[in-house]
Amino acid sequence: MDKYEETEQRFIRCYQKYGNSPVRVLLGFYKGQYHKFIISTLFFVVKHAPSLFSALLIANVINGALEGGETGKRIIIMNVAIWLGLLVIHLPANWMHNKYKNRVIRTTEAGLRGALVRKLQELSIPYHTEVQSGRLQSKIIRDVEAVETLSAQLFVNLMNIMMNLIITLSVTAVKNRIILLFFVLVTPVASLTVVAFRQKIRKENRAFRREMEETSAKVMEMVELVPVARAHALEQKEVDKLKGQLEETADKGYRLDMVQAHFGAVSWCVFQVFQALCLGFSGFMALNGLIKIGDVTFYQSSFTTVVNQFTALINLLPILTKGLESVTSIGEVLTSDDVERNDGKMELTELKGQYTFKNVQFTYKGADQPVLDGLNLNIKEGETIALVGESGSGKTTVLNLIIGFITPTDGRLFIDGHDVNDINLRSYRRFISVVPQTPILFTGTVRENIVYGLDHVTDEEVERAVEAANLRSVISKLPKGLDTMIEEHGANLSGGQRQRISIARAIIRNPKVIILDEATSALDTISEKEIQDALDRLIQGRTTFIVAHRLSTVRGADRILVLDKGKIREEGSYQELMALKGEFYEMERLQMALR
Ligand code: ADP
Repeated sequence: MDKYEETEQRFIRCYQKYGNSPVRVLLGFYKGQYHKFIISTLFFVVKHAPSLFSALLIANVINGALEGGETGKRIIIMNVAIWLGLLVIHLPANWMHNKYKNRVIRTTEAGLRGALVRKLQELSIPYHTEVQSGRLQSKIIRDVEAVETLSAQLFVNLMNIMMNLIITLSVTAVKNRIILLFFVLVTPVASLTVVAFRQKIRKENRAFRREMEETSAKVMEMVELVPVARAHALEQKEVDKLKGQLEETADKGYRLDMVQAHFGAVSWCVFQVFQALCLGFSGFMALNGLIKIGDVTFYQSSFTTVVNQFTALINLLPILTKGLESVTSIGEVLTSDDVERNDGKMELTELKGQYTFKNVQFTYKGADQPVLDGLNLNIKEGETIALVGESGSGKTTVLNLIIGFITPTDGRLFIDGHDVNDINLRSYRRFISVVPQTPILFTGTVRENIVYGLDHVTDEEVERAVEAANLRSVISKLPKGLDTMIEEHGANLSGGQRQRISIARAIIRNPKVIILDEATSALDTISEKEIQDALDRLIQGRTTFIVAHRLSTVRGADRILVLDKGKIREEGSYQELMALKGEFYEMERLQMALR
């Protein structure tokens, strides 16, 4: 088990144990590390000692000055010396405080992201089809960030607030209990203010957040549509469409700002009333000789500290709400059990490429009609099978069954005589290659894209794959040949060139089974011919499944299956089907006429 797998398991256990309490899940994330937070907080207190004790030191200096003489002098010098002494340790203490806190939080943050990334690799393909990638990305980036912010606030700021309150209240309690009463009275008043505003703030917050999400979705859509909008001269329309949305967001944001600002002002005033009363009270106490004059400033500063802590506590609320929501959101992915299970299943050490479909039925989740209904099929080793049929007839679904992305919801599928449910699919997929409909290239060199995932590939093998995929002429024109960088999604290559790189990637793996999904559908005739040659070389001696709209590309297949609404309508070689003068014959005639 690697580090991330261990972390993933630990996080998943947290969710399983405390699922409905995000606070406990969060605490679970940091299990075994609490002592580091405590150490960090202790250093925080040391680092903040100058400000924590400043009120006391100032009061002492004023009292010393009022006292006068040698004693007064000594008091002043001593208090200033203490202050300077506290400042000297500020820097090392600050270093230690941050070191402990940030290490734990950043490690957990990376652990959470690592766990999510691992989980995404495990989740089934249907899961990925269903959940928008933008949403998953937002969980990995934004939700984890919110958890990090929450952790920093919860473990450090909260402890800091508590520590400040405890120290200030303790010193006050020691010096004068009556004044302490004033401080303690702030609690119910602060709570009342929070209660009065909480509902309203939460409501405005939610409205604003929803509006923001909507804006972000609409902006994303607009960006994707830029080429379409440009092509139809609809730029102004798109701008206008967003304008309304932006105005609405600004309005919601303004309302949130106003209610928060009002809340801030009201609590500030309330606290100030108390502070003024406290000032009068301590002033009179000093007047009557009950306390020293310097202590008036001490109580005032202490009171300010108390008020500041309450304000900080109030400000923590929105961060807490947001962070805990993110804990839940991450849990939705980490605890999903829509994963492919391969552990303990039969490992394939070789593959012949024989397939048997026995009454295979497949129904998509939530659909009431099966997409494939009672499919029976026997495919021999090395056979080339072409799947044709109207869009929506179930061709891709058959391919997905063959790759093992999905398994039959009824009936059985055998690969080399073994039920697909008993096979470790990861071991099976080492022997297959998929050339998808749209070639998927990543940022890297052409060579890296071809050898993707293979460790020990010789230059000779790469050259052979390049040759077989008809890529030679393409690569000789690239500035750095095989080492030319491919831009994101292969933007600097043509569709046909991308397709051939994808074919080279399939060839170099020397697979036993090849799966081609409409690989030539979007190409001109010359590219198609070049690709067809490459494909012919690729499929020699291997079991091959081809989905193609252009019927000319399936002429060489051993068998053509005509699918219609999830059932096989016709089956046979090209000549046989043409002689049959059935559905395939009609389709072929129609395509010929269109040429
Ligand atoms: P083809 O490849 O022949 O165009 P598909 O196998 O992609 O057909 O789809 C067959 C049917 O299954 C279609 O009616 C399609 O709407 C439906 N379908 C495909 N994918 C999904 C999915 N993820 N969820 C629900 N229905 C789906």
